[in-house]
Amino acid sequence: MKVAIVGSGYVGLVTGVCLADFGHEVVCVDNDQTKVDRLSRGEISIHEPGLGELIKSNLAAGRLSFTSALSEAVPTAEMVFISVGTPSRRGDGHADLSYVYAAAEAVAGHLSGFTVVVTKSTVPVGTGDEVARIVDSANPDADVEVVSNPEFLREGSAIDDFKRPDRIVIGIANERARTPMAELYRPLYLNQAPLMFTDRRTAELTKYAANAFLAMKITFINEMADLCEAAGGDVQQVARGMGLDNRIGPKFLHAGPGFGGSCFPKDTLALVKIAQDFGSPMRLVETTISINDQRKAAMSRKIVAACGGEVRRKTIGVLGLTFKPNTDDMREAPSIDIIGDLLDKGARVVAYDPQGMRAAAELMDNVEYAASAYAVAENADALVIVTEWNEFRSLDLARLRRAMASPVLVDLRNVYSYEEVAKHGFTYFSVGRPDGQ
Ligand code: NAD
Repeated sequence: MKVAIVGSGYVGLVTGVCLADFGHEVVCVDNDQTKVDRLSRGEISIHEPGLGELIKSNLAAGRLSFTSALSEAVPTAEMVFISVGTPSRRGDGHADLSYVYAAAEAVAGHLSGFTVVVTKSTVPVGTGDEVARIVDSANPDADVEVVSNPEFLREGSAIDDFKRPDRIVIGIANERARTPMAELYRPLYLNQAPLMFTDRRTAELTKYAANAFLAMKITFINEMADLCEAAGGDVQQVARGMGLDNRIGPKFLHAGPGFGGSCFPKDTLALVKIAQDFGSPMRLVETTISINDQRKAAMSRKIVAACGGEVRRKTIGVLGLTFKPNTDDMREAPSIDIIGDLLDKGARVVAYDPQGMRAAAELMDNVEYAASAYAVAENADALVIVTEWNEFRSLDLARLRRAMASPVLVDLRNVYSYEEVAKHGFTYFSVGRPDGQ
């Protein structure tokens, strides 16, 4: 099939590249010309494992191309995906739909023949109706079906998530959208990925429901970790004991510094606003947001306490900046608030992240960036693991210990065990574990 993707960020690019890899003919559009030029040369614009190779092979096979001109992509397309950003609207937390609406209006003028316009961006319930209205008023002759097909991929494992999804949710307003959508995803359907057809509003709600539920699950185990610390108990074993129950499942039960990233913070906030607008508040989600906000301050208090109650003029080494491993995405990363707090309290902060330092430097200019975990440890009064990159999982602890001014390790991801770090003379602090203090 001929597909146009409008918005070639994390979601649009992965969607476009994977659809091309299935054999579809895909043109990815972005209004950032620099990004388009780089992608056209086969240079990857984001860090996502496996994506670079897929871009190159599909460019070479002639199934994938990039442009900034809708006129080169939309008129021939049977399907147009809208995958532009839907950030939090400044001030009130509603999803900012201006990019989606602008894209819909711009696409409308180029439509030709029957086209399915698919909203892939995460959007509030009712947005599909508005997209249909915008397209209709901008181009009354257009023959379109507007479909909601929310994306559930995770950054860091996006290709695998797209190619082997747990499910594909497709919200349609009319039956005639069903066949082209099923045809598009046929390669996945053959792999038994369940295609779930529903109405458009239900599909829109499903995406927010899933993200809010996962955010709640993380927040639940984080509060449980606090209780374990207070009452004596090991949150990792509690999580295992819970997660082995099939009704609960083991995923998203890792205690840590709170959720961040480009989706959970903005999507939980947007769901709360949507629910309030409909007079049907989601109080569990409201509370989840406030607990998670407070958690980052609690983590910096933990670090200060580990340093003897004072960080002024002390050097704190931070390992990991991105909101999770295997991405360069710094959006709403817990490290931003934690580091901000430490700087406010007078600490000197030296940080290292395998992929996130360029984006971090744009957000935090009072931080010194180092070239490795060992360089971060140089004369540090404490080391803090904020993001569990694989390369932090088997550090040479003796070497770190020798480099540091004082051997304090604050492990906000429970990567290490008390026994293995204590052996090297570290004072160790982790999250929700008895010897992690
Ligand atoms: P992003 O900011 O990485 O990418 C958006 C892209 O759209 C940018 O490259 C921007 O230049 C481009 N753009 C904006 N307006 C445009 C226009 N009119 N024409 C052409 N290009 C335009 O955003 P993202 O992280 O890919 O997220 C996109 C959507 O997908 C959001 O609604 C998000 O909530 C949702 N989503 C994201 C993820 C994720 O992990 N990032 C997962 C699932 C769903």
